[in-house]
Amino acid sequence: MTYDYDLFVIGGGSGGVRAARVVAAKGARVALAESSRMGGTCVIRGCVPKKLMVFASEFAGLADEARAYGWAMDAGGFNWSHFRAMLDRELDRLEGVYRRLLQGSNVTIYDAHARLDGPNAVVLATGQRITARQILIATGGHPQRPDTPGAELGIVSDDIFNLPDLPARILIVGGGYIACEFAGILNGLGASVTQFYRGAEILRGFDDEARRMVAQGMTDRGIDIRTGTEAVAMVRKGAVIHVTASDGSTLEVDQVLFATGRAPNTRGLGLETAGIVTGPSGEIVVDAYSATSVPSVHAVGDVTDRVNLTPVAIREGMAYAETVFGGNPTPIDHDLIPSAVFTQPEFGTVGLSEEAARAQEPIEVYAAAFRPMRTSFAGKEERVLMKLVVSQKTRRVLGCHIVAPQAGEMIQLAGIAIKMGATKEDFDRTMAVHPTMAEELVTMKEPVRRA
Ligand code: NDP
Repeated sequence: MTYDYDLFVIGGGSGGVRAARVVAAKGARVALAESSRMGGTCVIRGCVPKKLMVFASEFAGLADEARAYGWAMDAGGFNWSHFRAMLDRELDRLEGVYRRLLQGSNVTIYDAHARLDGPNAVVLATGQRITARQILIATGGHPQRPDTPGAELGIVSDDIFNLPDLPARILIVGGGYIACEFAGILNGLGASVTQFYRGAEILRGFDDEARRMVAQGMTDRGIDIRTGTEAVAMVRKGAVIHVTASDGSTLEVDQVLFATGRAPNTRGLGLETAGIVTGPSGEIVVDAYSATSVPSVHAVGDVTDRVNLTPVAIREGMAYAETVFGGNPTPIDHDLIPSAVFTQPEFGTVGLSEEAARAQEPIEVYAAAFRPMRTSFAGKEERVLMKLVVSQKTRRVLGCHIVAPQAGEMIQLAGIAIKMGATKEDFDRTMAVHPTMAEELVTMKEPVRRA
């Protein structure tokens, strides 16, 4: 049978675009359908605009520091309209870059929603039916709201970048990456931020000492974090949203942001037409090669709900290309993935938390919490954390956790050593770069505890 294409990709985000380009570069006939803007969550409504907002939100604090260093400086007011116009322009530019990269690789673009129609065909929203030898689903995920009465009054992370005005008072619900990052951003931009988290401590699953330090830093910056608290009802009265909390207290805010997790985009995809197996959250079930239960259909990225991070989706896309179109079966290595939470203070992490490592084997913990030179000079009390979790038996560094300005940049590099299997003694043999914060990672002599 002849097909219209060798590969049809559904979804123009990080994973889909990368796979399409790499497969097309191997000489295959490739098409890609995207129903929204090219670039997907990361570029259009995630990592990229979020990080630009982090930058924007840091200037008030920097102006404070600058004054301490002798500069006559006042950050003045933040102009959201100006920033939004700049942001829109930048996202347009990036979307254009993604589009041109695909076109330059001879990938045919369909700006339409596509759904499966059996194992070797898709149907576009236009009604056009297209056949392909292989299909790759890379449709990503979407933010989820809880079923709190009145939850429709709130917004989700997708909406933040398009707000006409910044709220003066906002409630953020959730304690994960997105909730904590936006708490810092909106606080830095001048909003009064309250954060409700249902658990005992924000950033569940991360190293306890590190998450406690992040929470402290957020609180010190003025964020009102209320743990063990849920929003149980919301009503709008005029421009104000009245929120009732689970402890019976009430709160008046101008906006509520739900950052209560994300779910895979599998509805309306026609998966049932090909018999593709999904899991409890609707995620597409795949093996180590991103293969679904149907041989001609694979899936990468958040739609598979493995590790929902952009670089992981890209790697999965590349491994897919190599496996299915390169004749070289390449499993994806999801072990020891470094990542950063762009909270303020920033948090970088790789490997096991102290708690997870302790449950696995006997460990030593090396940690230094100290006031860094730059902000200490400016009279700030804030401390940074450099922490290594080490196996007593193999001496390998099992986890590294950094809470500090630029922690994301640091953990990328520490991640290489740890991925290579570095031991504590390898860290010790490495000469310090002085004066830096990260030098503490190679100068910690005695463990603070053994467990
Ligand atoms: P997370 O899963 O990280 O966090 C969801 C939060 O919402 C948790 O604190 C959870 O509580 C809480 N929650 C879930 N359901 C409810 C509910 N019904 N009522 C109240 N609270 C609820 O999701 P995010 O939305 O923050 O982020 C999604 C994913 O996106 C992340 O897991 C990450 O993979 C990715 N991401 C990565 C970033 C980065 O790398 N810097 C940045 C942003 C996102 P509990 O802990 O009790 O379950």
